[in-house]
Amino acid sequence: MGGHPDRIVAHFLKSAPTLDECPAPGLPEVAIAGRSNSGKSSVLNQLTRNRQLARTSKTPGRTQLLNFFDTSLGGRLVDLPGYGYARVAKSQKHVWEDNVESYLARREDLVGVVLVMDIRHPFEPFDVMMIDWAIHTGLPMHVLLNKADKLKHGACVSALRSARARLTQPHFSLQLFSAQTGLGRDEAIELLSVWLTPTTSAMAHPSTASLPEPS
Ligand code: GDP
Repeated sequence: MGGHPDRIVAHFLKSAPTLDECPAPGLPEVAIAGRSNSGKSSVLNQLTRNRQLARTSKTPGRTQLLNFFDTSLGGRLVDLPGYGYARVAKSQKHVWEDNVESYLARREDLVGVVLVMDIRHPFEPFDVMMIDWAIHTGLPMHVLLNKADKLKHGACVSALRSARARLTQPHFSLQLFSAQTGLGRDEAIELLSVWLTPTTSAMAHPSTASLPEPS
């Protein structure tokens, strides 16, 4: 069997403020979510080795949008807007929730969500909201406990164990990660390669493949 790539080659495709403005459907999409400062941009940099990616998402005017990236695997990465900036007004928070929720609930191409959590502060309200949503919809979720380099090995292991105890459903997976050192990079790329390759993403998640029309 061939191995997985050593990075995910990705290029900016477009930003969309709402579901209606998303690119034409038909390719598997993997959404990346995380509270601001969880290290989501650094994770994207580490996985793609392309600094341009996260910089694009952080361009003024794009921070509240869904940012789409084509990958050489065929599927698309979708950087969900950051959440939790103290500056964001309540009204903007509602706009965020409406747009992201409708994307998560209605985008047929979505095959999985990567949730980036800061290993030192996991399961904050935003994280729990995303996790509850994944439980509710049954969509696969892969959790990265990022900034693992900030804790000693023993503390990482116990953080991983207690997170695993909270995410027992079979469609959840999780791992230690460090966007700074590259810890966990191969494991994450391996999983993303399956999700982002049109043939394997359908096989990995038959429930997300299209159902036959009723006769
Ligand atoms: P975002 O707001 O979630 O996109 O977070 P950023 O990627 O901008 O990261 C926020 C801060 O955390 C920056 O100062 C990063 O350098 C730092 N950071 C991100 N990932 C890691 C990590 O794995 N380890 C350490 N030590 N710092 C990290």
